[in-house]
Amino acid sequence: MSILLRTVIALCTAVILASAPAAAQERVKVITSFSILADLVKNVGGERVDVGALVGPGSDAHVYAPTPADARKVAEARLVVVNGLGFEGWLDRLIKAAGGKATVVVATKGIKARKADDDHDRKHGRKDGHKHEHDDDVDPHAWQNVLNVKTYVDNIRDALAAADPAGAEMYRANAAAYSAKLDALNADVRAAVTKIPAARRKIITNHDAFGYFEAAYGIKFIAPQGLATESEPSARDVARIISQIKRQKVPAVFLENISDPRLMQRIAKETGAKVGGTLYSDALTAANGPAPTYIDMMRHNPGTLIGALTTS
Ligand SMILES: [Zn+2]
Repeated sequence: MSILLRTVIALCTAVILASAPAAAQERVKVITSFSILADLVKNVGGERVDVGALVGPGSDAHVYAPTPADARKVAEARLVVVNGLGFEGWLDRLIKAAGGKATVVVATKGIKARKADDDHDRKHGRKDGHKHEHDDDVDPHAWQNVLNVKTYVDNIRDALAAADPAGAEMYRANAAAYSAKLDALNADVRAAVTKIPAARRKIITNHDAFGYFEAAYGIKFIAPQGLATESEPSARDVARIISQIKRQKVPAVFLENISDPRLMQRIAKETGAKVGGTLYSDALTAANGPAPTYIDMMRHNPGTLIGALTTS
């Protein structure tokens, strides 16, 4: 066979491979730790990826207990995309159970993590010396600032391109298009918050999931539960919150989709604050719910806040 002929055959083969539609069995298998990451991977990966979430819509990833089926999913995946920053405390054991060979992509790589603090206690003159248990912990909820999610998207794009170079161009185009949507979303969240009178931009919710949102958009969130959801708030924590609500005239308490509503309902009853609705903190909803995608979630939450805080 002549060199020319070989070259022609090689070129044709390359063209056929590059243009072949990604059949289901050829898709890049990606498993993510929770629903928000699965949505981001879907947006960047499009039809070339087959993505799932270990912790599905409406479920709490803080306290998840992986199953043997999860270990199989991890073992079969080309990429395992996780949030990092200590969010998935169960991950290391799962990776080991899956044989330890998984390629783990930390979506928050490069994000400046915020530390938990009890700043609001100092500012408001608490004198009993109470400290939160996890004062020095890193806050994993970085997705609550929309601009951070652009970094998530960049990390996902790079990981997909490395795992599947033939799709790199598509991943770059999808990531750029989605990032532009995030810029618009970020501007919309900012604009939404300005509709709430400054004095009413303070609310109570279950756990400290909104620190990044607070820092980026200027709504004060106070929570009886810390950064994680493993432990119930103590009677003392609840009493502290109740007196804080009364002292600062906090207008509303909000439920979270991943948390038991009873504590917030009780706090509302004892303080006269109203229940302002449900916020989506750590998980999306199923397709027929109000927050099936990350962008839906970040439009829904400010809408709920405005609804409750601009009317008395
Ligand atoms: Zn959380």
